[in-house]
Amino acid sequence: MSFERPLADVENPETRAYEYRDAEGKKIADVEAEFSASGDMVEDPVSGETVAARRLSSLKLTNPEDGRVFDALAVFNTKGADIIVPDKRIGNYSHGVLGTEAIVPAPESPLDLATMLHELGHVDQLEDPDTMGFSGFAGISKAFMIEGGLKALGATDAERIKGAQGHLEAVFAAIPEARVAADAEAVAALESASTMEELEAAAALLRDVLALPLRMAERDATRRALQGLRRVREEAGIDLLSKTLNPKEALVTEAEGCEASTVEGVNDPDAYVKVSTVAAMKGDLKTYGAEKFRIKK
Ligand SMILES: [Zn+2]
Repeated sequence: MSFERPLADVENPETRAYEYRDAEGKKIADVEAEFSASGDMVEDPVSGETVAARRLSSLKLTNPEDGRVFDALAVFNTKGADIIVPDKRIGNYSHGVLGTEAIVPAPESPLDLATMLHELGHVDQLEDPDTMGFSGFAGISKAFMIEGGLKALGATDAERIKGAQGHLEAVFAAIPEARVAADAEAVAALESASTMEELEAAAALLRDVLALPLRMAERDATRRALQGLRRVREEAGIDLLSKTLNPKEALVTEAEGCEASTVEGVNDPDAYVKVSTVAAMKGDLKTYGAEKFRIKK
């Protein structure tokens, strides 16, 4: 997706209103969103369809009981990313690798809001010293390297092998614990692979290691989203973290990637809102690997 985007028509915003309700049907928030026409087009990563989009320029949540207002973009979009909302729901949402844009669903439900906060969490990861090491290449997954993405871009087998080898090196550079945890023989096999068959066999043994940056980035983005929802609760008294949110169906999704991670987190917030998920995962890796898969020098 290009980062040279058309200008948004900020002079003529279109306002849309939504209501968030709990499981008993009681209204817990009035939501007012302002969209600017922009001419943005977004590709659905699942269906491949091109969908027209507009920019979200303002998002305010009001507590209907006491009138407290929470200005979500002022609080959460501190990097000033373009927040791009496709006119219809797409298969997954994303953020630009440069941190200048986030593609999010229209904020029709608390889960949509959480998904938006997840994407803005990815944007923030790029400048956070705790996460910047791995977040930038998290999207370059094993699947992209080996199972088609690069091939679709016209890469030769040799380029795909080199790409996967480079990805493994980048994982080790960003997350040194991963090298300790990895199966040394599989690492050597991947590093010396010269055919796609050899590469695929080695990569199958290193699936978890190759996917590690992506997994850590997803978990951390969901942690950030849940902390965001907690902040809404603290500052405006609107509890979007509750498991009793309506509709319950919204918490079951066939979506993958960012939205799936967000659903997992909203369903079990306690597991995510603990201190630093990234630090915890690094610690786990170290303990696990040091005993079992030490690399022989
Ligand atoms: Zn994500």
